[in-house]
Amino acid sequence: MADIIDGNALSKSLREQIAETRHIAGVTPGLATILVGDDPASASYVRSKQRACERAGFYAEDVRLPEDITQAELEDVIRRMNAREEIHGVLVQQPLPTHINTEAVVAAVDPDKDVDGFHPVNLGRLMRGDRGFLPCTPFGIARLLSSAGISVSGKNVVIVGRSLLVGKPLALLLLAKVGPGGRLQETGDATVTVCHSRTRDLSSVTLGADILVCAMGRPEFVGADMVRSGATVVDVGINRVEDSTRPRGYRLVGDVMYDEVSEKAGAITPVPGGVGPMTVTMLLYNTLQSARNLYSQDPLSGARNESG
Ligand code: NDP
Repeated sequence: MADIIDGNALSKSLREQIAETRHIAGVTPGLATILVGDDPASASYVRSKQRACERAGFYAEDVRLPEDITQAELEDVIRRMNAREEIHGVLVQQPLPTHINTEAVVAAVDPDKDVDGFHPVNLGRLMRGDRGFLPCTPFGIARLLSSAGISVSGKNVVIVGRSLLVGKPLALLLLAKVGPGGRLQETGDATVTVCHSRTRDLSSVTLGADILVCAMGRPEFVGADMVRSGATVVDVGINRVEDSTRPRGYRLVGDVMYDEVSEKAGAITPVPGGVGPMTVTMLLYNTLQSARNLYSQDPLSGARNESG
């Protein structure tokens, strides 16, 4: 039976440490979340980010904008947030309405307040191995692995999914050169393979993984036949499946068939309670680093020394 990598427990302790570090440093990190329209799922994500900020003693500003806002008006709001000293992080909740150019919106955020780590400048820094904000989900996965004592160095890591949000930045993070001249202290030096919907014979690739990361958005797609015995499995997927026995009429499942894969894997992240809570925690961490002007330092050793 696999060890469970508990994202809730790690998140809780990291958030306490973030709150304490904030208190000791005497800063009030400020995060502005910008939500366009009233999509219920997006509104619920924004609410959980706001709540997490407030609990950690941060200042959180909840900016709500109408669905029919123009590109120019939205970019103007972002620029005003960029300019405010008490705001250290500016986050635009995605997806945006179809008439909005998302890339231009992401680029309008000041790279030094881009606590989501999506700005081309920060993605470029990640690509080059320079320091900058890391995208929160890949950052959270790296922290989960390192806190579970699972080194990726020299391991075969297979990532299924190549999105800009998860798969691609995670691949760069785990591939990064570690040590003198390298950027990160403990999460790089892996041999990384990235799969996608055109990958031929997916199982033959995933069976070679020491660490398998599933970020596909396909409910319970990955079964035990795709996982090597003793492998570490990180399930990023968050999928709603109908379930009439639940009050809401659905339940959340990952991309992995948890019951059978946990019989075969060496370690596994559950859904919910694995990667999900870590994403918001790393957002808090990035915002704290921004408020302290420390975002350009080694993010993982920072998390380890100050918060972990
Ligand atoms: P995207 O839809 O942007 O990307 C999905 C990726 O999976 C694509 O690269 C796609 O390939 C690949 N894929 C889809 N089907 C298959 C298949 N049958 N075989 C191989 N590859 C496949 O999703 P995201 O990256 O945004 O999100 C992935 C999942 O992670 C979702 O469930 C999402 O809800 C969840 N998520 C969870 C977060 C968390 O905090 N835990 C944060 C962000 C996302 P192709 O490129 O060829 O289309």
